[in-house]
Amino acid sequence: MKIASIINGAESIDNREETLMVYNPHNQERVAEVQLADENELNAAIDNSYETFHHTMKTMPAHKRADILLKAAELLEDRLEDFAQIITKEAGKPIQFSRAEVKRSMQVIRFASEYAKQISGEVIPMDAAIGGENRFGFTKRVPVGVVAAITPFNFPLNLSLHKIAPAIAAGNTIVLKPAEKTPVSAYMLVKLFHEAGLPVGGLNLVLGLGEELGDPLVKHEKIHKVTFTGSLGVGRIIRENAGFKKVTLELGSNSPNLLFEDADLEQAVPSLVKGAFAFSGQVCISAQRLYVHRSIYDRFLDDFKKRTEELVIGDPMDEATDFGPMINEEAAERAKSWIDDAVIHGAKVHTGGEQNGTLLTPTIMTDVKSNMKVIAEEVFAPIVSVIPFDTEEEAVKAANDSIYGLQAGVFTKDINKAFRVADKLEMGGVWINEISTYRQDNHPYGGVKQSGIGREGVKYAVEDMTEMKFFGLNLDSYQ
Ligand code: NAD
Repeated sequence: MKIASIINGAESIDNREETLMVYNPHNQERVAEVQLADENELNAAIDNSYETFHHTMKTMPAHKRADILLKAAELLEDRLEDFAQIITKEAGKPIQFSRAEVKRSMQVIRFASEYAKQISGEVIPMDAAIGGENRFGFTKRVPVGVVAAITPFNFPLNLSLHKIAPAIAAGNTIVLKPAEKTPVSAYMLVKLFHEAGLPVGGLNLVLGLGEELGDPLVKHEKIHKVTFTGSLGVGRIIRENAGFKKVTLELGSNSPNLLFEDADLEQAVPSLVKGAFAFSGQVCISAQRLYVHRSIYDRFLDDFKKRTEELVIGDPMDEATDFGPMINEEAAERAKSWIDDAVIHGAKVHTGGEQNGTLLTPTIMTDVKSNMKVIAEEVFAPIVSVIPFDTEEEAVKAANDSIYGLQAGVFTKDINKAFRVADKLEMGGVWINEISTYRQDNHPYGGVKQSGIGREGVKYAVEDMTEMKFFGLNLDSYQ
C-alpha cells in the first residue's frame, strides 16, 4: 500500500524517491509506503484550505456541518474493524484497545455533530455602563479560519478527531499533519470525511516528517490556529514558531496516583495495572508515579505485582493480548536505559525490566528518588514506580514536585480528604477513586505547567477554535 498527501481531494502518487516506510512494531512487516510531501505541496494544501474556508466553510450553516459529522460517525461505525486493524498494524496497539479507540472516536464525532448546533454567544447588558442607554450589544462565536492539526502516534485516530471534529463543528478548515509513525489511519479518516460530504478542501492531509513540514506549517501566515498533541520538546518549538496565532498544546506528564490508607484496593489495583500498562504506557496520562500510604504499601505492592504478571503479553492482533510492543526499538531502548540508570543509583526492579527489540516487559520499580528520570521525566513506557508515604502533606508535595500537571488519581473513602487533596494538586484534572489514565471525550482535558495550553473535549476545543466577535447597535440612530 502506497499513500500520499491529499490536497483538495486529490492524491497524486508519483515516482519520487522521498518515501518513508511504516512498519508493524510487533513483527516489522511493512504496513505502508508513504510519499512525503514537499514544501510546494504543503503550501498548496494551506492555500486550498484558506480558499475553502473563505468560499465554503465559513458560510456553511450549522445544520449542514452537523449532518456531515453525523454521516462521518456512521461511516466510521460501519468500518470499525478496518480502522481497528490498521491502528493495531501501524501502532502495535493490542486489538481490544484499538477497537476501544475507534468507538471513542465515533463518540467524539457525534459530540461534535451535536455541539455544532449549540455554538452561540451572549447578550451584553449595555446599559450597565454610563452612557450605554439605547445601545444593544451581543456576541457571536465565529470560526478562526485554517487550523493546523499536528498529532502523535499513540491514539492516531482519536487524537486526530479531537482536532478535526471540533474544527468542522465550528466552521473551520483543517490541514492535518499526522505522526509519521502512524499516518495510515489518518489517511483513511480524511477519505472518510470526504465521503461523508465535507467539501474536499475542508480537510487536507499532508504527510511528512515533523522536523521538515512542521516549521513551515506552523509559521505560515494563512494558518490561524495551531493545535498540537505531542511531546514537550516539540511543543516548545511550536509555541515559538506560532507567533501571534492561537495555540493549543496537549503535551506530556508523569501522572501521579495517591492511595490513602482507606483506599479500596480491590478496585484500585486492577485499574492501576491497566492505567500503568495499557498500550505499553505510551499514554500521556499513564499512571507513572504511585504514592501509597505506608500502612498499605506491602499489601498493595504484592497484589499489584501479582496482577501485573498476569497480563497476557503477545501479538497485538490476538484477541487475548493485553500487552504488546512499544512503537519502535529506539523507544524501548531509551526506556530500558532509564531503568538501568535508576538501578545504578539505588532503585530496584520489582518485576519486568526486560527488553527485547520493541518489547519492554511491564516494569514496577521501587526505592526510586525524585531526581531519577523514571520519576522526574515522562517515561512514556511501561514503567511505574511505587513510593511509600506517611502523611497527606508529604504525598501532595511529592505529587506536585513536577514540571507537568495533566491528570491525577486520588483513592480514599474519606470524601473530605479526597476534595482537599484534589484541590491541592496542581493538575488540569483530578479523578477521585479513579485512575489518572481515565478520560472521557466530553470533559475538559488539558494540562497546567508544562503539560500544555488550552483544553480539548469537544465543547472546549470549539471555544479555542472560535473567536468571540462583538456586535454593537446604537438604537438612537433609529429614532
Ligand atoms: P512527538 O512530539 O514526537 O510528535 C508529535 C507530532 O509532532 C508528530 O506529528 C511529529 O511529526 C510532529 N513534529 C515533530 N517535530 C515538529 C516540529 N518541529 N514542528 C511541528 N511538528 C513537529 O510525539 P509522539 O512521540 O508522536 O507522541 C508522544 C507524546 O505525545 C508524549 O509526550 C505524550 O505525552 C504526548 N501526548 C499528549 C497527549 C495529551 O492530550 N496531552 C495525548 C497523547 C500524547
